[in-house]
Amino acid sequence: MTVQTSPAQSHATSVTVARGDGIGPEIMDASLAMLQAAGAALAIEEIEVGEKVYKAGFTSGLTDDAWASIRRTKLLYKAPITTPYGGGYKSLNVTIRTGLGLFANVRPVRAYAPYIRTHHPAMDLVIVRENEEDLYTGIEHRQTDEVVQCLKLLSRPGSERVIRYAFDFARLSGRKKVTCMVKDNIMKLTDGMFHQVFREIAAEYPEIATDHMIVDIGAAKMAVNPERFDVVVTPNLYGDIISDIAAEVAGSVGLAGSANIGQHGAMFEAVHGSAPDITGKGIANPSGLFLAGVEMLQFAGQGEAAARAYNAWAATIEAGIHTGDMSGPETKQKVGTKDFTAAVIARM
Ligand code: NAD
Repeated sequence: MTVQTSPAQSHATSVTVARGDGIGPEIMDASLAMLQAAGAALAIEEIEVGEKVYKAGFTSGLTDDAWASIRRTKLLYKAPITTPYGGGYKSLNVTIRTGLGLFANVRPVRAYAPYIRTHHPAMDLVIVRENEEDLYTGIEHRQTDEVVQCLKLLSRPGSERVIRYAFDFARLSGRKKVTCMVKDNIMKLTDGMFHQVFREIAAEYPEIATDHMIVDIGAAKMAVNPERFDVVVTPNLYGDIISDIAAEVAGSVGLAGSANIGQHGAMFEAVHGSAPDITGKGIANPSGLFLAGVEMLQFAGQGEAAARAYNAWAATIEAGIHTGDMSGPETKQKVGTKDFTAAVIARM
Protein backbone atom coordinates (compact mmCIF):
# COMPACT_ATOMS: atom_id res chain seq x y z
CA MET A 1 0.00 0.00 0.00
CA THR A 2 1.36 3.45 -0.87
CA VAL A 3 0.27 6.80 0.50
CA GLN A 4 0.40 9.90 -1.67
CA THR A 5 -0.92 13.34 -0.93
CA SER A 6 -2.12 16.18 -3.10
CA PRO A 7 -0.65 19.67 -2.83
CA ALA A 8 -3.53 21.20 -0.86
CA GLN A 9 -3.01 19.30 2.40
CA SER A 10 -4.98 21.13 5.05
CA HIS A 11 -8.44 20.01 3.94
CA ALA A 12 -7.44 16.89 2.00
CA THR A 13 -9.98 14.07 2.02
CA SER A 14 -8.53 10.67 2.93
CA VAL A 15 -9.53 8.16 0.28
CA THR A 16 -8.61 4.56 -0.42
CA VAL A 17 -7.93 4.03 -4.12
CA ALA A 18 -8.04 0.65 -5.88
CA ARG A 19 -6.74 0.68 -9.47
CA GLY A 20 -8.34 -2.68 -10.27
CA ASP A 21 -7.85 -4.96 -13.26
CA GLY A 22 -8.00 -4.70 -17.07
CA ILE A 23 -8.53 -1.07 -18.08
CA GLY A 24 -8.80 -0.15 -14.37
CA PRO A 25 -5.28 1.28 -13.92
CA GLU A 26 -5.53 3.27 -17.21
CA ILE A 27 -8.83 4.92 -16.33
CA MET A 28 -7.94 5.42 -12.65
CA ASP A 29 -4.72 7.28 -13.58
CA ALA A 30 -6.71 9.42 -16.03
CA SER A 31 -9.52 10.12 -13.55
CA LEU A 32 -7.19 11.08 -10.69
CA ALA A 33 -5.20 13.36 -13.01
CA MET A 34 -8.41 15.18 -14.05
CA LEU A 35 -9.78 15.45 -10.51
CA GLN A 36 -6.49 16.70 -9.09
CA ALA A 37 -6.06 19.21 -11.92
CA ALA A 38 -9.47 20.58 -10.91
CA GLY A 39 -8.14 21.19 -7.39
CA ALA A 40 -9.37 18.05 -5.62
CA ALA A 41 -7.47 17.66 -2.36
CA LEU A 42 -7.07 13.93 -1.86
CA ALA A 43 -4.85 12.06 0.60
CA ILE A 44 -4.64 8.76 -1.25
CA GLU A 45 -4.00 5.34 0.24
CA GLU A 46 -3.59 2.86 -2.60
CA ILE A 47 -4.62 -0.76 -2.17
CA GLU A 48 -4.45 -3.82 -4.39
CA VAL A 49 -7.74 -5.59 -5.10
CA GLY A 50 -9.00 -8.11 -7.62
CA GLU A 51 -7.27 -10.71 -9.75
CA LYS A 52 -3.78 -10.60 -8.22
CA VAL A 53 -5.22 -10.78 -4.72
CA TYR A 54 -7.53 -13.68 -5.63
CA LYS A 55 -4.54 -15.50 -7.14
CA ALA A 56 -2.53 -14.90 -3.95
CA GLY A 57 -5.16 -16.94 -2.11
CA PHE A 58 -7.43 -14.27 -0.62
CA THR A 59 -10.83 -15.59 -1.69
CA SER A 60 -12.56 -12.35 -0.64
CA GLY A 61 -10.36 -10.41 -3.12
CA LEU A 62 -9.13 -8.16 -0.29
CA THR A 63 -6.08 -8.42 2.00
CA ASP A 64 -6.28 -7.47 5.69
CA ASP A 65 -4.26 -4.30 5.00
CA ALA A 66 -6.68 -3.25 2.27
CA TRP A 67 -9.62 -3.75 4.62
CA ALA A 68 -7.87 -1.74 7.32
CA SER A 69 -7.41 1.16 4.88
CA ILE A 70 -11.06 1.10 3.78
CA ARG A 71 -12.23 1.01 7.40
CA ARG A 72 -9.93 3.91 8.25
CA THR A 73 -10.83 6.26 5.39
CA LYS A 74 -14.46 5.05 5.01
CA LEU A 75 -14.19 6.21 1.41
CA LEU A 76 -13.25 3.93 -1.49
CA TYR A 77 -12.64 5.02 -5.09
CA LYS A 78 -12.53 1.79 -7.04
CA ALA A 79 -11.70 0.95 -10.65
CA PRO A 80 -13.39 -2.15 -12.09
CA ILE A 81 -12.00 -5.56 -11.30
CA THR A 82 -12.17 -8.86 -13.13
CA THR A 83 -14.53 -11.12 -11.19
CA PRO A 84 -14.07 -14.82 -11.75
CA TYR A 85 -17.30 -16.36 -13.08
CA GLY A 86 -18.88 -19.37 -11.38
CA GLY A 87 -17.68 -21.04 -8.18
CA GLY A 88 -14.65 -20.62 -5.96
CA TYR A 89 -14.62 -16.91 -5.24
CA LYS A 90 -16.87 -14.46 -3.51
CA SER A 91 -17.55 -11.22 -5.42
CA LEU A 92 -15.33 -8.46 -4.03
CA ASN A 93 -18.05 -5.92 -4.73
CA VAL A 94 -20.52 -7.88 -2.63
CA THR A 95 -17.92 -8.20 0.18
CA ILE A 96 -17.31 -4.45 0.23
CA ARG A 97 -20.99 -3.53 -0.01
CA THR A 98 -22.01 -5.75 2.86
CA GLY A 99 -18.84 -4.98 4.89
CA LEU A 100 -19.41 -1.21 4.77
CA GLY A 101 -23.20 -1.41 4.93
CA LEU A 102 -23.51 0.31 1.54
CA PHE A 103 -27.28 0.06 1.35
CA ALA A 104 -27.98 2.37 -1.61
CA ASN A 105 -26.42 2.16 -5.05
CA VAL A 106 -27.15 5.47 -6.74
CA ARG A 107 -26.77 5.44 -10.52
CA PRO A 108 -27.51 8.68 -12.37
CA VAL A 109 -27.97 8.21 -16.10
CA ARG A 110 -28.50 11.07 -18.52
CA ALA A 111 -28.14 11.83 -22.20
CA TYR A 112 -25.51 14.31 -23.39
CA ALA A 113 -27.38 15.32 -26.51
CA PRO A 114 -26.67 16.67 -29.03
CA TYR A 115 -22.98 15.92 -28.37
CA ILE A 116 -23.30 12.17 -27.88
CA ARG A 117 -25.74 10.30 -30.06
CA THR A 118 -28.80 8.84 -28.38
CA HIS A 119 -32.41 8.26 -29.41
CA HIS A 120 -33.47 9.79 -26.09
CA PRO A 121 -32.01 13.28 -25.74
CA ALA A 122 -34.32 14.21 -22.84
CA MET A 123 -33.35 11.20 -20.74
CA ASP A 124 -32.24 12.20 -17.22
CA LEU A 125 -32.92 9.74 -14.43
CA VAL A 126 -31.44 8.27 -11.27
CA ILE A 127 -31.71 4.62 -10.32
CA VAL A 128 -31.54 3.93 -6.59
CA ARG A 129 -30.86 0.25 -6.19
CA GLU A 130 -31.05 -1.64 -2.90
CA ASN A 131 -27.52 -2.90 -2.44
CA GLU A 132 -27.26 -5.46 0.35
CA GLU A 133 -30.21 -7.84 0.12
CA ASP A 134 -32.26 -9.77 -2.45
CA LEU A 135 -30.69 -12.59 -4.48
CA TYR A 136 -27.22 -11.07 -3.97
CA THR A 137 -26.76 -12.13 -0.35
CA GLY A 138 -25.01 -15.23 -1.72
CA ILE A 139 -27.18 -17.74 0.12
CA GLU A 140 -27.20 -20.62 -2.35
CA HIS A 141 -27.62 -24.35 -1.69
CA ARG A 142 -27.46 -27.54 -3.63
CA GLN A 143 -30.59 -29.49 -2.75
CA THR A 144 -30.00 -32.53 -4.93
CA ASP A 145 -27.69 -33.27 -7.87
CA GLU A 146 -30.23 -31.64 -10.14
CA VAL A 147 -31.78 -28.93 -8.00
CA VAL A 148 -30.08 -25.81 -6.66
CA GLN A 149 -31.59 -22.97 -4.67
CA CYS A 150 -30.79 -19.26 -4.21
CA LEU A 151 -32.51 -17.39 -1.44
CA LYS A 152 -34.22 -14.06 -2.14
CA LEU A 153 -33.97 -12.12 1.10
CA LEU A 154 -35.69 -8.76 1.64
CA SER A 155 -36.16 -7.12 5.03
CA ARG A 156 -38.55 -4.37 6.07
CA PRO A 157 -35.73 -2.21 7.61
CA GLY A 158 -33.59 -2.71 4.47
CA SER A 159 -36.48 -1.76 2.19
CA GLU A 160 -37.40 1.25 4.35
CA ARG A 161 -33.82 2.54 4.37
CA VAL A 162 -33.33 2.50 0.60
CA ILE A 163 -36.85 3.75 -0.24
CA ARG A 164 -36.51 6.64 2.24
CA TYR A 165 -33.10 7.41 0.71
CA ALA A 166 -34.72 7.56 -2.76
CA PHE A 167 -37.43 9.98 -1.58
CA ASP A 168 -34.94 12.16 0.32
CA PHE A 169 -32.69 12.16 -2.75
CA ALA A 170 -35.66 13.24 -4.93
CA ARG A 171 -36.60 16.00 -2.48
CA LEU A 172 -33.05 17.35 -2.12
CA SER A 173 -32.30 17.28 -5.85
CA GLY A 174 -35.62 18.82 -6.88
CA ARG A 175 -36.83 15.72 -8.71
CA LYS A 176 -40.55 15.24 -9.14
CA LYS A 177 -41.36 11.53 -9.26
CA VAL A 178 -40.23 8.23 -7.72
CA THR A 179 -41.09 4.96 -9.49
CA CYS A 180 -41.07 1.65 -7.61
CA MET A 181 -40.11 -1.34 -9.82
CA VAL A 182 -40.88 -4.80 -8.47
CA LYS A 183 -42.51 -8.07 -9.51
CA ASP A 184 -45.13 -8.25 -6.77
CA ASN A 185 -47.73 -9.85 -9.01
CA ILE A 186 -45.62 -13.03 -8.66
CA MET A 187 -43.43 -12.57 -5.55
CA LYS A 188 -46.19 -11.40 -3.30
CA LEU A 189 -44.36 -11.62 0.02
CA THR A 190 -40.89 -10.26 -0.85
CA ASP A 191 -41.60 -7.76 -3.63
CA GLY A 192 -45.07 -7.24 -2.14
CA MET A 193 -43.46 -5.97 1.07
CA PHE A 194 -41.10 -3.67 -0.86
CA HIS A 195 -44.10 -2.17 -2.65
CA GLN A 196 -46.09 -1.85 0.60
CA VAL A 197 -43.17 -0.03 2.30
CA PHE A 198 -42.93 2.21 -0.78
CA ARG A 199 -46.61 3.19 -0.37
CA GLU A 200 -46.13 3.94 3.34
CA ILE A 201 -43.03 6.09 2.86
CA ALA A 202 -44.49 7.87 -0.19
CA ALA A 203 -47.25 9.22 2.05
CA GLU A 204 -44.60 11.23 3.95
CA TYR A 205 -43.54 13.02 0.73
CA PRO A 206 -46.81 14.42 -0.65
CA GLU A 207 -45.04 16.82 -3.04
CA ILE A 208 -43.39 13.92 -4.92
CA ALA A 209 -45.42 11.96 -7.49
CA THR A 210 -45.21 8.17 -7.36
CA ASP A 211 -45.53 5.36 -9.82
CA HIS A 212 -45.38 1.56 -9.62
CA MET A 213 -44.31 -0.72 -12.47
CA ILE A 214 -43.81 -4.43 -12.82
CA VAL A 215 -40.12 -4.76 -13.59
CA ASP A 216 -40.38 -6.61 -16.90
CA ILE A 217 -42.52 -3.94 -18.51
CA GLY A 218 -40.48 -1.34 -16.61
CA ALA A 219 -37.29 -2.59 -18.27
CA ALA A 220 -39.01 -2.49 -21.67
CA LYS A 221 -40.13 1.11 -21.06
CA MET A 222 -36.59 1.97 -19.95
CA ALA A 223 -35.34 0.81 -23.35
CA VAL A 224 -37.93 2.66 -25.48
CA ASN A 225 -39.19 5.56 -23.36
CA PRO A 226 -36.63 6.39 -20.65
CA GLU A 227 -37.79 10.05 -20.56
CA ARG A 228 -40.79 8.97 -18.47
CA PHE A 229 -38.56 8.11 -15.47
CA ASP A 230 -37.14 10.47 -12.88
CA VAL A 231 -36.01 8.52 -9.76
CA VAL A 232 -36.44 4.73 -9.78
CA VAL A 233 -36.17 2.66 -6.59
CA THR A 234 -35.89 -1.10 -6.88
CA PRO A 235 -34.46 -4.23 -5.25
CA ASN A 236 -30.89 -5.30 -5.95
CA LEU A 237 -31.04 -7.63 -8.98
CA TYR A 238 -33.59 -5.59 -10.97
CA GLY A 239 -31.58 -2.43 -10.28
CA ASP A 240 -28.39 -4.03 -11.56
CA ILE A 241 -30.05 -4.98 -14.83
CA ILE A 242 -32.08 -1.86 -15.55
CA SER A 243 -29.18 0.48 -14.78
CA ASP A 244 -27.03 -1.16 -17.47
CA ILE A 245 -29.93 -0.90 -19.93
CA ALA A 246 -30.33 2.77 -19.02
CA ALA A 247 -26.59 3.53 -19.36
CA GLU A 248 -26.43 1.93 -22.80
CA VAL A 249 -29.62 3.70 -23.98
CA ALA A 250 -28.11 7.03 -22.86
CA GLY A 251 -25.14 6.61 -25.19
CA SER A 252 -22.43 4.34 -23.74
CA VAL A 253 -21.92 2.17 -20.71
CA GLY A 254 -18.51 3.89 -20.50
CA LEU A 255 -20.22 7.14 -19.41
CA ALA A 256 -21.99 6.02 -16.26
CA GLY A 257 -20.63 6.38 -12.74
CA SER A 258 -22.16 5.11 -9.55
CA ALA A 259 -22.15 5.91 -5.83
CA ASN A 260 -22.59 3.31 -3.11
CA ILE A 261 -23.79 5.04 0.01
CA GLY A 262 -23.83 3.52 3.48
CA GLN A 263 -24.00 4.25 7.15
CA HIS A 264 -20.32 3.40 7.68
CA GLY A 265 -18.77 4.63 4.46
CA ALA A 266 -19.15 5.16 0.72
CA MET A 267 -17.69 3.73 -2.46
CA PHE A 268 -17.56 5.36 -5.90
CA GLU A 269 -16.98 3.41 -9.13
CA ALA A 270 -17.84 3.16 -12.83
CA VAL A 271 -20.86 1.08 -13.85
CA HIS A 272 -18.89 -0.93 -16.43
CA GLY A 273 -16.40 -3.77 -15.90
CA SER A 274 -12.68 -4.25 -16.54
CA ALA A 275 -13.10 -4.50 -20.36
CA PRO A 276 -10.37 -7.10 -21.01
CA ASP A 277 -11.03 -6.82 -24.78
CA ILE A 278 -9.56 -3.29 -24.91
CA THR A 279 -7.03 -3.44 -22.06
CA GLY A 280 -3.68 -1.84 -22.85
CA LYS A 281 -4.90 -0.38 -26.17
CA GLY A 282 -5.09 3.16 -24.77
CA ILE A 283 -8.67 3.63 -25.99
CA ALA A 284 -10.73 3.19 -22.78
CA ASN A 285 -13.15 5.93 -21.89
CA PRO A 286 -12.33 7.19 -18.38
CA SER A 287 -15.62 9.14 -18.10
CA GLY A 288 -17.64 6.67 -15.98
CA LEU A 289 -14.98 6.45 -13.28
CA PHE A 290 -14.23 10.17 -13.55
CA LEU A 291 -17.92 11.15 -13.13
CA ALA A 292 -18.11 8.83 -10.11
CA GLY A 293 -15.08 10.77 -8.82
CA VAL A 294 -16.96 14.05 -9.33
CA GLU A 295 -19.78 12.65 -7.19
CA MET A 296 -17.19 11.59 -4.61
CA LEU A 297 -15.86 15.16 -4.41
CA GLN A 298 -19.40 16.47 -3.87
CA PHE A 299 -19.96 13.84 -1.18
CA ALA A 300 -16.68 14.88 0.49
CA GLY A 301 -17.68 18.56 0.54
CA GLN A 302 -15.32 19.59 -2.29
CA GLY A 303 -18.08 21.11 -4.40
CA GLU A 304 -15.89 23.73 -6.06
CA ALA A 305 -13.39 21.19 -7.41
CA ALA A 306 -16.30 18.93 -8.42
CA ALA A 307 -17.90 21.73 -10.46
CA ARG A 308 -14.60 22.69 -12.10
CA ALA A 309 -13.91 19.06 -13.02
CA TYR A 310 -17.42 18.46 -14.39
CA ASN A 311 -17.50 21.69 -16.42
CA ALA A 312 -14.15 20.93 -18.07
CA TRP A 313 -15.33 17.41 -18.91
CA ALA A 314 -18.61 18.71 -20.34
CA ALA A 315 -16.75 21.35 -22.40
CA THR A 316 -14.58 18.58 -23.87
CA ILE A 317 -17.61 16.50 -24.81
CA GLU A 318 -19.28 19.60 -26.29
CA ALA A 319 -16.13 20.34 -28.34
CA GLY A 320 -16.65 16.95 -30.00
CA ILE A 321 -13.54 15.38 -28.47
CA HIS A 322 -14.66 11.81 -27.80
CA THR A 323 -13.24 8.37 -27.12
CA GLY A 324 -14.21 5.65 -29.61
CA ASP A 325 -17.10 4.20 -27.60
CA MET A 326 -18.96 7.54 -27.58
CA SER A 327 -18.03 8.68 -31.05
CA GLY A 328 -20.59 9.24 -33.79
CA PRO A 329 -21.47 11.83 -36.42
CA GLU A 330 -21.13 14.61 -33.81
CA THR A 331 -17.51 13.68 -33.06
CA LYS A 332 -14.88 16.13 -34.30
CA GLN A 333 -11.84 14.36 -32.89
CA LYS A 334 -11.71 10.70 -31.90
CA VAL A 335 -9.04 10.30 -29.23
CA GLY A 336 -7.59 7.73 -26.84
CA THR A 337 -7.57 7.83 -23.05
CA LYS A 338 -4.48 10.03 -22.68
CA ASP A 339 -5.51 12.68 -25.22
CA PHE A 340 -9.04 12.80 -23.82
CA THR A 341 -7.60 13.37 -20.33
CA ALA A 342 -5.28 16.09 -21.61
CA ALA A 343 -8.19 17.80 -23.40
CA VAL A 344 -10.24 17.88 -20.19
CA ILE A 345 -7.31 19.21 -18.15
CA ALA A 346 -6.66 21.90 -20.77
CA ARG A 347 -10.22 23.20 -20.20
CA MET A 348 -9.89 23.70 -16.42
P1 NAD B 1 -17.41 -4.74 -19.42
O1 NAD B 1 -18.26 -3.64 -18.88
O2 NAD B 1 -16.03 -4.84 -18.90
O3 NAD B 1 -17.32 -4.60 -21.03
C1 NAD B 1 -18.46 -4.64 -21.88
C2 NAD B 1 -18.14 -3.95 -23.21
O4 NAD B 1 -18.07 -2.53 -23.00
C3 NAD B 1 -16.78 -4.36 -23.79
O5 NAD B 1 -16.86 -4.41 -25.19
C4 NAD B 1 -15.86 -3.22 -23.37
O6 NAD B 1 -14.76 -3.02 -24.24
C5 NAD B 1 -16.82 -2.02 -23.36
N1 NAD B 1 -16.39 -1.05 -22.34
C6 NAD B 1 -16.57 -1.16 -21.00
N2 NAD B 1 -16.06 -0.11 -20.38
C7 NAD B 1 -15.55 0.70 -21.33
C8 NAD B 1 -14.87 1.94 -21.31
N3 NAD B 1 -14.61 2.58 -20.15
N4 NAD B 1 -14.46 2.49 -22.47
C9 NAD B 1 -14.73 1.88 -23.64
N5 NAD B 1 -15.37 0.68 -23.74
C10 NAD B 1 -15.78 0.11 -22.59
O7 NAD B 1 -18.21 -6.11 -19.18
P2 NAD B 1 -17.71 -7.62 -19.28
O8 NAD B 1 -16.80 -7.78 -20.45
O9 NAD B 1 -18.93 -8.42 -19.19
O10 NAD B 1 -16.91 -7.88 -17.95
C11 NAD B 1 -15.49 -7.91 -17.85
C12 NAD B 1 -15.10 -8.18 -16.39
O11 NAD B 1 -15.50 -7.08 -15.57
C13 NAD B 1 -15.75 -9.43 -15.79
O12 NAD B 1 -14.78 -10.11 -15.03
C14 NAD B 1 -16.83 -8.86 -14.89
O13 NAD B 1 -17.14 -9.71 -13.82
C15 NAD B 1 -16.17 -7.60 -14.42
N6 NAD B 1 -17.09 -6.54 -13.92
C16 NAD B 1 -16.66 -5.80 -12.88
C17 NAD B 1 -17.43 -4.76 -12.40
C18 NAD B 1 -16.91 -3.95 -11.24
O14 NAD B 1 -15.79 -4.14 -10.81
N7 NAD B 1 -17.68 -3.04 -10.70
C19 NAD B 1 -18.65 -4.45 -13.00
C20 NAD B 1 -19.06 -5.22 -14.11
C21 NAD B 1 -18.27 -6.25 -14.57
